[in-house]
Amino acid sequence: MTRILHRQIHAKLPTARGGQGVHLFDTDGRSYIDASGGAAVSCLGHGHPDVTAALHAQADRLAYAHTSFFTNEPAEALAERLIASAPEGISHAYFVSGGSEAIEAALKMARQYFVETGQAGRRNIIARRQSYHGNTLGALATGGNEMRRTQFRPLLIETHHIDPCFAYRFQEAGETDERYAARAAQALEDKVRELGPETVMAFVAEPVVGATAGAVPSVADYFQRIRAICDRYGIILVLDEVMCGMGRTGTLHASAQDGIAPDLMTIAKGLGGGYQPIGAVLLSQRIFDAFANGSGLFQHGHTYICHPMACAAALAVQEVIARDNLLANVKTMGAHLSRRLGERFGNHPHVGDIRGRGLFMGVELVEDRSTKAPFEAELKLHARVKREAMARGLLVYPGGGTIDGVHGDHVLIAPPFIIDAATVDTVVERLGEAIDAATAA
Ligand code: PMP
Repeated sequence: MTRILHRQIHAKLPTARGGQGVHLFDTDGRSYIDASGGAAVSCLGHGHPDVTAALHAQADRLAYAHTSFFTNEPAEALAERLIASAPEGISHAYFVSGGSEAIEAALKMARQYFVETGQAGRRNIIARRQSYHGNTLGALATGGNEMRRTQFRPLLIETHHIDPCFAYRFQEAGETDERYAARAAQALEDKVRELGPETVMAFVAEPVVGATAGAVPSVADYFQRIRAICDRYGIILVLDEVMCGMGRTGTLHASAQDGIAPDLMTIAKGLGGGYQPIGAVLLSQRIFDAFANGSGLFQHGHTYICHPMACAAALAVQEVIARDNLLANVKTMGAHLSRRLGERFGNHPHVGDIRGRGLFMGVELVEDRSTKAPFEAELKLHARVKREAMARGLLVYPGGGTIDGVHGDHVLIAPPFIIDAATVDTVVERLGEAIDAATAA
């Protein structure tokens, strides 16, 4: 009997004992291909000797020193590294313990920026309906995942949501990408005008929507328009790259492929690759200067910010990714995965859409391909696919969500960057069997 409160209280979970490369092993001796890196976390795979060596060395040297007394070497080195490769204008890093904490810190940075610069009326957050930004109250209020929000709604701060840029669901027949990008971005400008620009603080969006929609990139031009609208009205653009960032889409930052730079960027998951819990906010010089020239303080903090072990792990993970040129493998294997998924599911009666970038791919499951009608929500088809996949030694990340009453099931494929072509083939083969089994039942 477990004494841990697990999310699915009645689920009987296997006990993970070990991991090596793209594989995880349980205590019953079963082996799984970790084709989602958990929730797009394990970008380097499991048991990487360079990372475990760095962790050992850091534990021997210094495990912890509180940031009100000290800075520390791994945190400084990691910040240097991240800023050297950051989008234009980004000048500083703030280290926390995960994605939700990063979002909370980013929201507070946006708010404090406006207080410091004499615009205290700016308090409204605009985000997108189909999105996930974390489970703490501020992050939950910001995200658009209704299932996760419903019972906590009375506790959530007021936020405002617009439709995401989601071509499969919302682009109209015959509408060009250019016109759809303009229409989807216009929703932001309309919302800003409705609320009053002088009240709007931040727009928050995932460049490639992860957990709630299943690897949905925007169409070309959408984010450029979003950036222009934020600039026009003086709004802080927060890009949440917690899931899609740190190389997952083939470039270090997903938003680089959209040709824009944010004012604040949140990263986590692939930053530490699961070797330690870590997240970060990357902030622009403009925001840093407002704090530095104003109160001289960022009014925030947690016990474990800049944790030396977490920063040492992330530094080692990022060094290995750069040294071994793994982003090139993300591009090559991403193209291979996309091709294989197309071959296997291109005509599948229950696969409506295959999308994504790099090693961040989503497969959307529908009852009826021609009408895009989803399966009944009660069937929890995504959970069935997960179960069938696990029974075949495959881990894929399931998701189902509701946008304006539209329910969709998807699975997310986000394997470690070290995956090879033969393993990609096995992933697609096992996923095919799992989807066939789940949709046949
Ligand atoms: N933002 C995004 C885009 C995410 O995918 C997640 C986690 N799935 C979070 C924030 C929250 O991160 P964490 O679970 O580390 O708090």
